[in-house]
Amino acid sequence: MRENMFIYRDILLNGMVYDKQAYERRKQKLGPDEMRARWREYRRSNSSEDYREKARVRGRKWRKLQLEINPNFKEYQNKQHRDKAKEKRYECIKHYSKGKMNCNCCSEHMYMFLEIDHKNDNGNKHRESIPNMNIYRWLINNNFPEEYQVLCSNCNKGKHFNGGICPHQDSDEGKPGTYA
Ligand SMILES: [Zn+2]
Ligand SMILES: [Zn+2]
Repeated sequence: MRENMFIYRDILLNGMVYDKQAYERRKQKLGPDEMRARWREYRRSNSSEDYREKARVRGRKWRKLQLEINPNFKEYQNKQHRDKAKEKRYECIKHYSKGKMNCNCCSEHMYMFLEIDHKNDNGNKHRESIPNMNIYRWLINNNFPEEYQVLCSNCNKGKHFNGGICPHQDSDEGKPGTYA
């Protein structure tokens, strides 16, 4: 058991590895049809909710143990979470800007400035209703609901202060010197 954990740790530190030779030997012995059948069976038996729950429990246990024995695990885990979050943000901005990666109002294209905006409210109300889950994950899990758009942080703030419409779109308010 303990030994297994150190093998896992090595895999973790050195990237995913698998025994290619053993795999090839097994493939030769079983033949391609049998390999395919086994793979199919593996996927079928692992797709049930029951199995997935067991896998979740196993994963939780394994991560807990890693935290104890592997000094680099925390950093590894944080990086994984950061990368995932970045990916999700990118996916959402891309979807809601229809691939153009810019602000729907002023065409600002600096990626760091882009945000997701709820078209019909100021955003605060909505974020309260999805606790413990970031907006990007929520949008993806809900299949990209239509009432969202990409705005830059300027247009987003402007819209918020201007009662729901960006000053850019509001000809009087948009003029310099209008705000006291
Ligand atoms: Zn803008
Ligand atoms: Zn604007």
